[in-house]
Amino acid sequence: MAHDGAREVLAIRYGTRTTTRAESFLNYHLYHEPDAKIDIDYFFWVIRDGSGTTLIDTGFAPAAGDRRRRTWWTTPAQALSALGIDPATVSTVVVTHAHWDHTGNLRQFPQANIVISQAEYDFWTSPLAGRAQFAAHAEPDEIGYLRAANQEDRLTPITGRQMLASGIELIEVGGHTPGQMIVSVITATGTVVLASDALHFYEELERDRPFAIVADLPGMYRAYDVLAGLASQPDTWLVAGHDPLVRTRFGPVQAAPDMTDLGAPNASWEPQGRQLTLTRSAVSFWDSPAPGTPAGPSGT
Ligand SMILES: [Zn+2]
Repeated sequence: MAHDGAREVLAIRYGTRTTTRAESFLNYHLYHEPDAKIDIDYFFWVIRDGSGTTLIDTGFAPAAGDRRRRTWWTTPAQALSALGIDPATVSTVVVTHAHWDHTGNLRQFPQANIVISQAEYDFWTSPLAGRAQFAAHAEPDEIGYLRAANQEDRLTPITGRQMLASGIELIEVGGHTPGQMIVSVITATGTVVLASDALHFYEELERDRPFAIVADLPGMYRAYDVLAGLASQPDTWLVAGHDPLVRTRFGPVQAAPDMTDLGAPNASWEPQGRQLTLTRSAVSFWDSPAPGTPAGPSGT
């Protein structure tokens, strides 16, 4: 696939599963709605431009996916090769958080620098991470890999907001995990906000319904407000981390049915995003620190 150097941001869907709404939204009984099935997709994200390729998360490991009965069909190394990218040329892998479905294929990039929030690294290498409610969502050998990378000086911890490269900003929001990060990427057509698991489903933001797996509930609500604030900026598009709607809200990559071009948002869903931010009183949270000001650590 030819590439002209203009920055592109892709969502690559590598797996899927059918679950229920009651398992997906925290305390679902509060909403007095019948339970129903819901599809959850699994993605990792690729930012490619003239200076190289950055991988955002690595998906789950095939063995872990099989053990946990998820359906999957590719890994980052395979998907990058299909894009004509040699995985060995990926110099940076961002780990938005250390859950198993994001850290599973770090070993495919043994030369890459790993960027993760300090809070996330500290938490998962602490004894508290071994408690059942947390441990269920991580793979010990993958946390061990992060630890080894740190010892090898291949791990860059960040706090608050930090530029990864020109036009690529990492923002620590917490909530879902102690140091969950989102990634804001400027492209020729606008700003793409990779929410990762700060927003599994658009419905969390659009109906103010927290996801079921949460380390810090106030932090999760605040993260939604940060995302809503970002979405209120001109030409800014949120990309939910596990929502099948990503593939209808953005355009497809030609000849690659599981890849979505995040630089090609479909205009039809824009009014919903705008309306959302106008009606949320909590958006004032975003108004206090001006954009560009480092936010304090959150999600402790
Ligand atoms: Zn996830």
